Amino acid sequence: MKESIYTSVCPGCSIGCGLYIREDDRGAVSIDFLKSSPVNRGKLCRFGMRLPHYYSTPATGKVEGLGSGTEDAVRAAASRLRGAEKVAMLSVGNTTCEEHIAFMKLAESLGTVVHTGIPVYAELPPECHPHLEGMPFTDIENAEKIVLFIDPYVQYPLLVRRLLAAKRNGAHITSAGTTELHLAHENRKLSPEQYAELDLDGNSVIITDIHPHTDPCHIRQLLNVVLDTGARLHVVKPFVNSEGVDRLAKGRAGTMGISQIMDGIEKGDIRTLVLLDSDPVELMPDTDRAVEVLKKLDNLIVISSRDSLVNAIADVVIATEHLYRKRGTLINAEGKLQENSGQGVDGIDAMSMLSRQLGADGFDHRQMHGYLHERMIDTLASENRKPEYCRMECGTVPAQQNGACTLEYVYNPFMWFSQPDDNDFVLLDRSMVKSLGLKKGGTVRLDSEKGSMNMRYRVEKVPEGTILTGRKLPIATGTVTKIRTEGC
Ligand code: SF4
Repeated sequence: MKESIYTSVCPGCSIGCGLYIREDDRGAVSIDFLKSSPVNRGKLCRFGMRLPHYYSTPATGKVEGLGSGTEDAVRAAASRLRGAEKVAMLSVGNTTCEEHIAFMKLAESLGTVVHTGIPVYAELPPECHPHLEGMPFTDIENAEKIVLFIDPYVQYPLLVRRLLAAKRNGAHITSAGTTELHLAHENRKLSPEQYAELDLDGNSVIITDIHPHTDPCHIRQLLNVVLDTGARLHVVKPFVNSEGVDRLAKGRAGTMGISQIMDGIEKGDIRTLVLLDSDPVELMPDTDRAVEVLKKLDNLIVISSRDSLVNAIADVVIATEHLYRKRGTLINAEGKLQENSGQGVDGIDAMSMLSRQLGADGFDHRQMHGYLHERMIDTLASENRKPEYCRMECGTVPAQQNGACTLEYVYNPFMWFSQPDDNDFVLLDRSMVKSLGLKKGGTVRLDSEKGSMNMRYRVEKVPEGTILTGRKLPIATGTVTKIRTEGC
């Protein structure tokens, strides 16, 4: 059997673990370890190990429900886009920089911009943005103090080995996130007013993430800590090329977060949505609601390598090759430029064809790659930048009502991409297990305004009244859902 081997990057998160993808002549995919990858030295997390499943559902071209080749799909997309008003375009960073730039060119010809779906950037002054870029992982290993606002085991697993290396080098690690972490020297639930107690300085690193549902208030609070203490902020992001698309979007006014886009559709301010490897049905916490909202559009056009949930309701799907087959570059959470060995240019060629059909110039991969090098991009910024922003007002987080329970999402690669995961349980604390009289090995009943369900559970040290889930649940109405269980 003939086999092709590609050097690529895991699409699960912005850590950007390197790996080999083997593809046989029937298109079946298996993975192999790329020990020379400086990011992960051949290691992969559970998501990376399951990439054959992720890659088992390639996109197929479609026009109004019927299968279609690329040329017909592009023609149908052009006819819908010609003269379309209230157009929005979304690319969160699930593809190469070159494809994203081609999408930006297309946006220019339609008189609009590409949104990256993350509202934090739009809400913070541009002078804060350099502090939201990643830093070399070796800087984490060499930090003296580290404060974590994420659960690296669940959310960004290959970061754990950097934290363990830092610990071996003598770093003191504090977890200030929702779950208690064994690798931390201390686990502390701190209000922002207590951050000064962490006693941080220029040798300290604060690690958090920014994703489509991050509360900008949390980031403002951490930027204030940076200003007060000289500590550095390391920001990880959920999509393989989040870092690249955020750097390419720098300085662009008016970019929207995914929730703003969905609100815009509801209000009729957006009538046409064009997506590049970005699925609002997967990105929004309430899947059913997202489908309802998207059905209000006049035109929903998808350009994608995956057959994800949104493809089923799209008017037009332009199918491109799998990420590992694409020719192009990706930038990971430490600002490292990584290159795919694939030579595929289907995505760029399809967008070029679409651009020409809309009366603008066509383009090719070489031009897009050249543009990347013109625009870009301080990769691997390891210096400690002096903050040039002013202290920011943060507002207050509403206090939880006594006796109320909340179901909270812990976003992780399986959740962002609606991939099946064996961890189909919720996390709750011992006092809740006791008060509900739950039996070992049993289930907990969860009720919200959307309905009821039973879930298996695991006992963890989580805040009282909080139930955490690492998978989307049909009863969820948001990233945080008010729920009732018997007893609270
Ligand atoms: S840590 Fe992220 S990039 Fe690395 S294997 Fe896991 S999901 Fe993929």
